[in-house]
Amino acid sequence: MRARQPCVVLTGAGVSTESGIPDFRSPTGLWAKFDPLEYGSIEAFRADPLKVWSFYKPRVAMLTEAQPNAGHLSLAELERLGFVEAVVTQNIDLLHERAGSREVVEVHGSIRGATCPGCGERQPLERVLELLAEADAPACPACGEIVKPDVVFFGELLPAAAIERATELARSAALLLVVGSALEVYPVAGLPEETLAAGGQLAIVNRGPTPFDQWAALLVDGNAAAVLPALARELAS
Ligand SMILES: [Zn+2]
Repeated sequence: MRARQPCVVLTGAGVSTESGIPDFRSPTGLWAKFDPLEYGSIEAFRADPLKVWSFYKPRVAMLTEAQPNAGHLSLAELERLGFVEAVVTQNIDLLHERAGSREVVEVHGSIRGATCPGCGERQPLERVLELLAEADAPACPACGEIVKPDVVFFGELLPAAAIERATELARSAALLLVVGSALEVYPVAGLPEETLAAGGQLAIVNRGPTPFDQWAALLVDGNAAAVLPALARELAS
């Protein structure tokens, strides 16, 4: 990281598990219990937004209460120290921002707000939580339609501006540090290819293998909340 700047970090669910947010794609995760087509797809939301909110309401509450862990805090510290240019994340939990990271690209959206599919009016998270305190699903104050969380549902395209910015960052990175992502979900899984094709290097900190292990200059099979603080300590000294 000292030698290969700029360094861009790509994070997935593994960076937030220590904050008590389970990896929903794991065998014991959410989508093993709930059919994503029934609760997490855009078709399901259009067909029955109340049903989808019955699933999302406790999840939003859980995500709002979660606290950044040592992994998030270390990435923010590494950015302050000038070793990290930006964090591209698949997570929707806002924990990088809350840990103090400034350049965060959220390629799967976030719980920061919700948008009305009827009139397009957007409600911030605080307002969504207020509405949820009074109802099972938040209705748009302007037109009464049930609002949709600004997270990418199955069957939806990723936010174009975020994926463009992420691609640009991956191409310009001398080092792409992947943390807590199995690199299985495209198009995010294509970002390491962008870095490698442009002559950059790849480092991976993840529990378990990824399809890019053979291309990585450095591979650490470990927990983000343990590995990243050690990295930050080393680079700060
Ligand atoms: Zn509306």
